[in-house]
Amino acid sequence: MEKILKGKPIGSRIRKKIKEIIAEHGLEPSMLLLQPGGDAASAYYVQNIISTGAKLGCKVELKNLPADLDAQELRAVIEEANNDPQIHGIMLQKPLPAHIPDAEAGTWIDPVKDIDSLNPMNLGKIILSLDSLLPCTPTAVLCTLRHYNIPLQGKHVLIIGRSSIVGKPLANMLLWKKTWADATVTVCHSRTQNLSEMIQTADIVVAAIGRPEFVKADMIKKNAVLIDVGINEITKPDGSVGYVGDIDYNSCFDKALAITPVPGGIGTVTTSLLFLNLLKASLAAKGTNKNIDDFLDLIFEE
Ligand code: NAP
Repeated sequence: MEKILKGKPIGSRIRKKIKEIIAEHGLEPSMLLLQPGGDAASAYYVQNIISTGAKLGCKVELKNLPADLDAQELRAVIEEANNDPQIHGIMLQKPLPAHIPDAEAGTWIDPVKDIDSLNPMNLGKIILSLDSLLPCTPTAVLCTLRHYNIPLQGKHVLIIGRSSIVGKPLANMLLWKKTWADATVTVCHSRTQNLSEMIQTADIVVAAIGRPEFVKADMIKKNAVLIDVGINEITKPDGSVGYVGDIDYNSCFDKALAITPVPGGIGTVTTSLLFLNLLKASLAAKGTNKNIDDFLDLIFEE
Protein backbone atom coordinates (compact mmCIF):
# COMPACT_ATOMS: atom_id res chain seq x y z
CA MET A 1 0.00 0.00 0.00
CA GLU A 2 1.16 3.52 -0.74
CA LYS A 3 1.95 5.52 2.35
CA ILE A 4 1.06 8.99 1.06
CA LEU A 5 -2.52 9.03 -0.19
CA LYS A 6 -2.29 11.80 -2.76
CA GLY A 7 -5.47 13.22 -4.28
CA LYS A 8 -4.09 14.04 -7.71
CA PRO A 9 -4.40 10.58 -9.32
CA ILE A 10 -7.98 10.27 -8.03
CA GLY A 11 -8.99 13.68 -9.38
CA SER A 12 -7.44 12.75 -12.76
CA ARG A 13 -9.35 9.47 -12.81
CA ILE A 14 -12.66 11.18 -12.09
CA ARG A 15 -12.10 13.97 -14.65
CA LYS A 16 -11.07 11.50 -17.36
CA LYS A 17 -14.36 9.64 -17.00
CA ILE A 18 -16.37 12.88 -16.86
CA LYS A 19 -14.79 14.01 -20.15
CA GLU A 20 -15.56 10.67 -21.79
CA ILE A 21 -19.22 10.74 -20.74
CA ILE A 22 -19.64 14.39 -21.79
CA ALA A 23 -18.30 13.47 -25.25
CA GLU A 24 -20.35 10.26 -25.47
CA HIS A 25 -23.62 12.09 -24.73
CA GLY A 26 -22.79 15.43 -26.42
CA LEU A 27 -23.46 17.30 -23.20
CA GLU A 28 -22.82 20.94 -22.37
CA PRO A 29 -23.02 20.93 -18.56
CA SER A 30 -23.59 24.36 -17.14
CA MET A 31 -23.15 25.56 -13.57
CA LEU A 32 -24.11 28.77 -11.81
CA LEU A 33 -21.53 29.55 -9.14
CA LEU A 34 -22.84 32.03 -6.60
CA GLN A 35 -20.31 33.83 -4.45
CA PRO A 36 -22.02 35.95 -1.85
CA GLY A 37 -19.94 38.40 0.12
CA GLY A 38 -16.75 38.27 -1.96
CA ASP A 39 -14.96 36.35 0.82
CA ALA A 40 -11.22 36.57 0.07
CA ALA A 41 -10.41 33.08 1.36
CA SER A 42 -13.00 31.45 -0.91
CA ALA A 43 -11.59 33.20 -4.02
CA TYR A 44 -9.03 30.38 -4.36
CA TYR A 45 -11.78 27.71 -4.43
CA VAL A 46 -13.82 29.74 -6.91
CA GLN A 47 -10.87 30.05 -9.30
CA ASN A 48 -10.22 26.32 -8.95
CA ILE A 49 -13.83 25.54 -9.92
CA ILE A 50 -13.67 27.88 -12.92
CA SER A 51 -10.39 26.42 -14.21
CA THR A 52 -11.57 22.81 -13.69
CA GLY A 53 -14.77 23.63 -15.59
CA ALA A 54 -12.75 25.05 -18.49
CA LYS A 55 -10.61 21.88 -18.66
CA LEU A 56 -13.70 19.66 -18.70
CA GLY A 57 -15.67 21.67 -21.25
CA CYS A 58 -18.30 22.68 -18.67
CA LYS A 59 -19.71 26.20 -18.51
CA VAL A 60 -19.22 27.92 -15.15
CA GLU A 61 -21.04 31.22 -14.76
CA LEU A 62 -19.75 33.15 -11.73
CA LYS A 63 -22.14 35.56 -10.09
CA ASN A 64 -20.68 37.75 -7.33
CA LEU A 65 -23.28 38.89 -4.86
CA PRO A 66 -22.92 41.77 -2.38
CA ALA A 67 -22.08 40.97 1.26
CA ASP A 68 -25.14 42.87 2.48
CA LEU A 69 -27.48 40.82 0.30
CA ASP A 70 -30.49 39.81 2.36
CA ALA A 71 -31.87 36.28 2.55
CA GLN A 72 -34.85 37.05 0.30
CA GLU A 73 -32.58 38.50 -2.40
CA LEU A 74 -30.38 35.39 -2.35
CA ARG A 75 -33.45 33.19 -2.45
CA ALA A 76 -34.74 35.10 -5.52
CA VAL A 77 -31.41 34.59 -7.35
CA ILE A 78 -31.47 30.87 -6.55
CA GLU A 79 -35.09 30.48 -7.62
CA GLU A 80 -34.39 32.19 -10.93
CA ALA A 81 -31.59 29.64 -11.52
CA ASN A 82 -33.89 26.79 -10.43
CA ASN A 83 -36.28 27.82 -13.21
CA ASP A 84 -33.62 28.35 -15.88
CA PRO A 85 -33.33 25.25 -18.11
CA GLN A 86 -29.89 26.44 -19.31
CA ILE A 87 -28.48 25.94 -15.78
CA HIS A 88 -27.97 22.31 -14.71
CA GLY A 89 -26.25 22.84 -11.37
CA ILE A 90 -26.13 25.52 -8.67
CA MET A 91 -23.12 25.92 -6.42
CA LEU A 92 -23.43 28.26 -3.47
CA GLN A 93 -19.93 29.16 -2.33
CA LYS A 94 -19.47 29.39 1.42
CA PRO A 95 -19.00 31.07 3.80
CA LEU A 96 -22.32 32.81 3.39
CA PRO A 97 -22.75 36.22 5.07
CA ALA A 98 -23.41 35.58 8.78
CA HIS A 99 -27.05 36.73 8.56
CA ILE A 100 -27.93 33.93 6.08
CA PRO A 101 -27.98 30.44 7.67
CA ASP A 102 -26.35 27.76 5.45
CA ALA A 103 -29.02 25.19 6.28
CA GLU A 104 -31.85 27.49 5.22
CA ALA A 105 -30.13 28.53 1.97
CA GLY A 106 -29.72 24.84 1.08
CA THR A 107 -33.47 24.36 1.13
CA TRP A 108 -33.91 26.96 -1.66
CA ILE A 109 -31.84 25.03 -4.21
CA ASP A 110 -33.83 22.65 -6.43
CA PRO A 111 -32.68 19.15 -5.35
CA VAL A 112 -32.01 18.14 -8.98
CA LYS A 113 -29.59 21.11 -9.38
CA ASP A 114 -28.07 20.83 -5.90
CA ILE A 115 -24.55 19.82 -6.95
CA ASP A 116 -23.02 20.59 -3.53
CA SER A 117 -25.68 18.50 -1.77
CA LEU A 118 -26.99 21.15 0.60
CA ASN A 119 -30.70 20.43 0.15
CA PRO A 120 -32.29 18.25 2.88
CA MET A 121 -33.76 16.05 0.13
CA ASN A 122 -30.28 15.02 -1.03
CA LEU A 123 -28.89 14.76 2.50
CA GLY A 124 -31.90 12.69 3.58
CA LYS A 125 -31.45 10.28 0.68
CA ILE A 126 -27.98 9.48 2.02
CA ILE A 127 -29.49 8.15 5.25
CA LEU A 128 -31.87 5.97 3.22
CA SER A 129 -29.10 4.83 0.82
CA LEU A 130 -31.08 6.26 -2.11
CA ASP A 131 -29.43 7.67 -5.21
CA SER A 132 -28.75 11.41 -4.93
CA LEU A 133 -26.28 14.14 -5.73
CA LEU A 134 -23.57 13.41 -3.17
CA PRO A 135 -21.78 15.82 -0.82
CA CYS A 136 -18.38 16.33 -2.42
CA THR A 137 -16.02 16.22 0.58
CA PRO A 138 -17.39 13.03 2.20
CA THR A 139 -17.44 11.41 -1.24
CA ALA A 140 -13.81 12.48 -1.72
CA VAL A 141 -12.93 10.61 1.48
CA LEU A 142 -14.63 7.44 0.23
CA CYS A 143 -13.07 7.76 -3.25
CA THR A 144 -9.62 8.14 -1.70
CA LEU A 145 -10.02 4.97 0.37
CA ARG A 146 -11.43 3.12 -2.64
CA HIS A 147 -8.66 4.27 -5.02
CA TYR A 148 -5.94 3.11 -2.63
CA ASN A 149 -7.75 -0.19 -1.93
CA ILE A 150 -8.04 0.46 1.79
CA PRO A 151 -10.71 -1.94 3.04
CA LEU A 152 -13.51 -0.45 5.11
CA GLN A 153 -15.77 -3.43 5.66
CA GLY A 154 -16.08 -4.02 9.40
CA LYS A 155 -13.30 -1.54 10.18
CA HIS A 156 -13.63 1.05 12.90
CA VAL A 157 -13.66 4.51 11.32
CA LEU A 158 -13.59 7.41 13.75
CA ILE A 159 -14.58 10.85 12.45
CA ILE A 160 -13.65 13.94 14.44
CA GLY A 161 -16.20 16.63 13.52
CA ARG A 162 -20.00 16.52 13.15
CA SER A 163 -20.66 19.28 10.60
CA SER A 164 -23.52 18.91 8.14
CA ILE A 165 -21.13 19.14 5.17
CA VAL A 166 -18.49 16.65 6.32
CA GLY A 167 -18.85 14.60 9.52
CA LYS A 168 -22.57 13.74 9.53
CA PRO A 169 -23.01 12.83 5.84
CA LEU A 170 -19.70 10.93 5.85
CA ALA A 171 -20.79 8.86 8.87
CA ASN A 172 -23.96 7.84 7.03
CA MET A 173 -22.14 7.03 3.80
CA LEU A 174 -19.60 4.86 5.63
CA LEU A 175 -22.52 2.82 6.96
CA TRP A 176 -23.81 2.00 3.46
CA LYS A 177 -24.03 -1.74 2.81
CA LYS A 178 -21.48 -1.73 0.00
CA THR A 179 -18.21 -3.57 -0.36
CA TRP A 180 -16.41 -0.19 -0.36
CA ALA A 181 -18.17 1.04 2.80
CA ASP A 182 -19.76 -1.16 5.50
CA ALA A 183 -17.68 0.36 8.27
CA THR A 184 -18.32 0.66 11.99
CA VAL A 185 -18.46 4.38 12.67
CA THR A 186 -17.83 6.65 15.63
CA VAL A 187 -18.40 10.41 15.39
CA CYS A 188 -16.62 12.67 17.89
CA HIS A 189 -16.89 16.41 18.53
CA SER A 190 -15.86 19.12 20.95
CA ARG A 191 -17.92 17.61 23.80
CA THR A 192 -16.55 14.09 23.38
CA GLN A 193 -14.95 12.80 26.56
CA ASN A 194 -11.63 10.91 26.48
CA LEU A 195 -11.13 11.81 22.82
CA SER A 196 -7.51 10.58 22.70
CA GLU A 197 -8.46 7.17 24.10
CA MET A 198 -11.25 6.88 21.54
CA ILE A 199 -8.96 7.82 18.64
CA GLN A 200 -6.56 5.08 19.83
CA THR A 201 -9.24 2.48 19.04
CA ALA A 202 -9.73 3.49 15.38
CA ASP A 203 -8.39 1.70 12.31
CA ILE A 204 -9.09 4.78 10.22
CA VAL A 205 -9.23 8.34 11.57
CA VAL A 206 -10.93 11.12 9.60
CA ALA A 207 -10.20 14.60 10.93
CA ALA A 208 -12.64 17.38 9.98
CA ILE A 209 -12.15 19.80 12.83
CA GLY A 210 -10.71 23.06 11.50
CA ARG A 211 -7.86 23.13 14.04
CA PRO A 212 -4.29 23.10 12.75
CA GLU A 213 -2.38 19.86 13.47
CA PHE A 214 -4.78 18.85 16.25
CA VAL A 215 -4.25 15.07 15.97
CA LYS A 216 -0.81 14.09 17.30
CA ALA A 217 1.10 10.82 17.04
CA ASP A 218 0.42 9.85 20.66
CA MET A 219 -3.35 9.87 19.98
CA ILE A 220 -3.36 7.31 17.15
CA LYS A 221 -2.91 3.58 17.15
CA LYS A 222 0.07 2.15 15.27
CA ASN A 223 -0.72 1.52 11.59
CA ALA A 224 -3.89 3.59 11.59
CA VAL A 225 -4.91 5.13 8.26
CA LEU A 226 -5.21 8.91 8.61
CA ILE A 227 -7.52 10.96 6.41
CA ASP A 228 -7.15 14.71 6.84
CA VAL A 229 -10.07 16.83 5.64
CA GLY A 230 -8.88 20.00 7.38
CA ILE A 231 -7.39 22.93 5.51
CA ASN A 232 -6.05 25.59 7.86
CA GLU A 233 -4.26 28.74 6.78
CA ILE A 234 -1.10 29.39 8.81
CA THR A 235 1.66 31.98 8.80
CA LYS A 236 4.99 30.26 8.30
CA PRO A 237 8.11 31.33 10.27
CA ASP A 238 9.26 33.37 7.24
CA GLY A 239 5.95 35.30 7.26
CA SER A 240 4.49 33.64 4.15
CA VAL A 241 1.09 31.96 4.09
CA GLY A 242 0.87 28.16 4.11
CA TYR A 243 -1.71 25.44 4.71
CA VAL A 244 -1.77 22.55 7.16
CA GLY A 245 -4.39 19.96 7.98
CA ASP A 246 -6.07 18.93 11.22
CA ILE A 247 -3.55 16.10 11.60
CA ASP A 248 0.07 16.74 12.59
CA TYR A 249 1.48 15.15 9.43
CA ASN A 250 5.12 15.12 10.49
CA SER A 251 4.58 13.68 13.95
CA CYS A 252 2.09 11.04 12.74
CA PHE A 253 3.85 9.97 9.53
CA ASP A 254 6.02 7.15 10.91
CA LYS A 255 3.31 5.65 13.12
CA ALA A 256 0.55 5.71 10.48
CA LEU A 257 0.04 3.02 7.85
CA ALA A 258 -1.00 5.71 5.37
CA ILE A 259 -1.86 9.40 5.48
CA THR A 260 -3.36 12.06 3.19
CA PRO A 261 -1.23 15.18 2.65
CA VAL A 262 -2.47 18.76 3.05
CA PRO A 263 -2.49 20.36 0.57
CA GLY A 264 -2.72 17.75 -2.18
CA GLY A 265 -5.05 15.28 -0.47
CA ILE A 266 -8.82 15.28 0.00
CA GLY A 267 -9.30 18.87 -1.20
CA THR A 268 -7.81 17.93 -4.57
CA VAL A 269 -10.53 15.32 -5.12
CA THR A 270 -13.44 17.46 -3.95
CA THR A 271 -13.67 19.81 -6.95
CA SER A 272 -13.67 16.93 -9.44
CA LEU A 273 -16.65 15.41 -7.61
CA LEU A 274 -18.54 18.70 -7.89
CA PHE A 275 -18.30 18.21 -11.67
CA LEU A 276 -19.37 14.57 -11.37
CA ASN A 277 -22.54 15.85 -9.71
CA LEU A 278 -22.90 18.46 -12.48
CA LEU A 279 -22.55 15.70 -15.07
CA LYS A 280 -25.29 13.67 -13.36
CA ALA A 281 -27.54 16.76 -13.19
CA SER A 282 -27.00 17.64 -16.87
CA LEU A 283 -27.71 14.05 -17.95
CA ALA A 284 -30.90 14.07 -15.86
CA ALA A 285 -31.95 17.33 -17.56
CA LYS A 286 -31.75 15.42 -20.86
CA GLY A 287 -33.91 12.65 -19.44
CA THR A 288 -31.11 10.15 -18.68
CA ASN A 289 -30.98 9.18 -15.04
CA LYS A 290 -27.80 7.46 -14.02
CA ASN A 291 -27.02 6.46 -10.46
CA ILE A 292 -24.01 8.12 -8.92
CA ASP A 293 -22.96 4.61 -7.86
CA ASP A 294 -22.72 3.62 -11.51
CA PHE A 295 -20.49 6.60 -12.23
CA LEU A 296 -18.24 5.66 -9.29
CA ASP A 297 -18.10 2.03 -10.46
CA LEU A 298 -17.12 3.21 -13.96
CA ILE A 299 -14.39 5.42 -12.51
CA PHE A 300 -12.93 2.80 -10.21
CA GLU A 301 -13.33 -0.34 -12.29
CA GLU A 302 -10.52 0.63 -14.68
P1 NAP B 1 -17.07 22.97 11.30
O1 NAP B 1 -18.43 23.12 10.76
O2 NAP B 1 -16.44 24.12 12.02
O3 NAP B 1 -17.06 21.71 12.29
C1 NAP B 1 -15.93 21.37 13.04
C2 NAP B 1 -16.24 20.19 13.88
O4 NAP B 1 -15.05 19.90 14.67
C3 NAP B 1 -17.38 20.40 14.87
O5 NAP B 1 -18.21 19.27 14.91
C4 NAP B 1 -16.67 20.61 16.21
O6 NAP B 1 -17.40 20.14 17.32
C5 NAP B 1 -15.44 19.74 16.03
N1 NAP B 1 -14.37 20.21 16.91
C6 NAP B 1 -13.88 21.47 17.02
N2 NAP B 1 -12.93 21.50 17.97
C7 NAP B 1 -12.84 20.25 18.47
C8 NAP B 1 -12.04 19.67 19.48
N3 NAP B 1 -11.17 20.38 20.19
N4 NAP B 1 -12.19 18.34 19.71
C9 NAP B 1 -13.07 17.61 19.03
N5 NAP B 1 -13.86 18.12 18.06
C10 NAP B 1 -13.74 19.43 17.79
O7 NAP B 1 -16.02 22.54 10.18
P2 NAP B 1 -16.22 21.85 8.74
O8 NAP B 1 -16.92 22.79 7.86
O9 NAP B 1 -16.71 20.45 8.89
O10 NAP B 1 -14.69 21.80 8.27
C11 NAP B 1 -13.71 21.09 9.03
C12 NAP B 1 -12.36 21.29 8.36
O11 NAP B 1 -12.41 20.74 7.05
C13 NAP B 1 -11.93 22.74 8.17
O12 NAP B 1 -10.52 22.82 8.28
C14 NAP B 1 -12.34 23.03 6.73
O13 NAP B 1 -11.54 24.06 6.15
C15 NAP B 1 -12.07 21.72 6.09
N6 NAP B 1 -12.89 21.43 4.90
C16 NAP B 1 -12.25 20.86 3.85
C17 NAP B 1 -12.96 20.51 2.72
C18 NAP B 1 -12.25 19.81 1.60
O14 NAP B 1 -12.80 19.66 0.53
N7 NAP B 1 -11.06 19.29 1.84
C19 NAP B 1 -14.33 20.78 2.64
C20 NAP B 1 -14.96 21.34 3.75
C21 NAP B 1 -14.23 21.65 4.88
P3 NAP B 1 -18.79 20.81 17.78
O15 NAP B 1 -19.81 20.33 16.79
O16 NAP B 1 -19.00 20.26 19.15
O17 NAP B 1 -18.59 22.29 17.74
